[in-house]
Amino acid sequence: MTFDDLGLSPEVLRAIDDAGYEAPTPIQEQAIPFVLMGRDVLGCAQTGTGKTASFTLPMIEILATGRSRARMARSLILTPTRELATQIAENFEIYGKYHKLSMALLIGGVSFEDQNAKLDRGVDVLIATPGRLLDHFERGRILLTDIKILVIDEADRMMDMGFMPDVEKIVSLLPPIRQTLFFSATMPPEIRTLADKFLMNPKEITVTPKTATAETVAQFLTIVDNKDWVKRDTLRKLIRAEDVDNAIVFCNRKRDVDILNRSLQKHGFKAAALHGDMSQPARLETLQAFKDSETQILVASDVAARGLDLPKVSHVFNFDVPMHAEDYVHRIGRTGRAGREGRALTIATTEDGKFLAAVHKFIGKSIDSIEVEGVEKAEISAESPKRVGRRRTRDGSQASGRRRGRRSRSENSDKNSEPQPTPNNNSNKKGKTAKGPKRARNRKSSSKNKPDEAAVEETVVGMGSHVPAFMLRSGKEKGE
Ligand code: AMP
Repeated sequence: MTFDDLGLSPEVLRAIDDAGYEAPTPIQEQAIPFVLMGRDVLGCAQTGTGKTASFTLPMIEILATGRSRARMARSLILTPTRELATQIAENFEIYGKYHKLSMALLIGGVSFEDQNAKLDRGVDVLIATPGRLLDHFERGRILLTDIKILVIDEADRMMDMGFMPDVEKIVSLLPPIRQTLFFSATMPPEIRTLADKFLMNPKEITVTPKTATAETVAQFLTIVDNKDWVKRDTLRKLIRAEDVDNAIVFCNRKRDVDILNRSLQKHGFKAAALHGDMSQPARLETLQAFKDSETQILVASDVAARGLDLPKVSHVFNFDVPMHAEDYVHRIGRTGRAGREGRALTIATTEDGKFLAAVHKFIGKSIDSIEVEGVEKAEISAESPKRVGRRRTRDGSQASGRRRGRRSRSENSDKNSEPQPTPNNNSNKKGKTAKGPKRARNRKSSSKNKPDEAAVEETVVGMGSHVPAFMLRSGKEKGE
């Protein structure tokens, strides 16, 4: 199939041609015709498979007719992170270069003024993180009653616990008759339930097995002693042993991102840190330096795991096994994009049995183990501590301190991810059963490495006890 067969206009085809795309990717091939028909779509595709164009291209077509009015927007794309929103805006500019569509990017961490000026003129496309959008709405800067198309990208994350109140509020402000598109790399049961209520007769498109990792990514695992310095030493040896062009190293905790970054720099690596406590300009600057190859190693929290399109990342290293199995898929999805080969190497410790088992279960296979020269191999401890209940902050990293109260939206509500279900306790396939859920009595980690005690508290499963109001709405309200 070619792009010509999809019902796109000559202007859009020309922009696609300029972008150098020869043929639509499977998600584009399957989604674009249905979006053009005005159908709701529930799209599930691996990261890096061209999801963004699968909704932006037909949106450009649909929005090409009609005009926006002052303080009104005609379409809305919600994303969980500022970086992803920025990236979608960049894509819109590329694909919409032969159209005169107006666009506003409403993300936190940057000034309201430019955003206000754009809203005052009226926009065809609003690309927003939920908190900043609601801030504008509450300040009376934008009306959402003219929204014809709603896109929720990375729907699983958006529907995740922390975004529910904001997403619920936003949805309640939209007209009931609209086109709704959900796109997500993973499709946990909560999303399916929500989609049943939220989308109208959606066309469901799954182009890869749910939650599968990209075939272009070779995955490896090494298990080492549960000591920070051993892990750092292992990482350095792995980076040196691998033919690394550039890499993202993921840590579970923001604090460890900084520590590891400094350590790598001290050892002569061109490293930089990226996490949600950094100011937005600093985050963008860091990303740009990485894209421009000024930095070789990006040490990041999960804020960098979702949706970011850094096309030429040769390696992903998990300095920590992610505590939420689906994060593993998102993290390693930063490499092996757009048909390139990539390598993902995970450093696990003796106490990671539980999380490792959850990852293995989630991806449906065991990760091959890799020898690291000069590092003694360890085995998963049979007494892995139960490290459940540590919540995630919106930048996806490990939280510290008390459970989050509602801070002002501008401050935090459009950052990244939120609490997620704790993975089940499973034994891994190598027969090294992690016996949970026991809390370790004598865990030998240093205090530096220890999770904040205050954060080891509640476990939130799925949406917790919260049932969003729009899930309870009848089909009639949605225009059925
Ligand atoms: P996405 O999954 O939307 O983040 O896209 C991943 C990468 O694939 C981006 O760098 C896009 O520019 C690129 N891409 C999207 N569609 C195509 C296509 N049809 N042919 C080649 N590259 C594409």
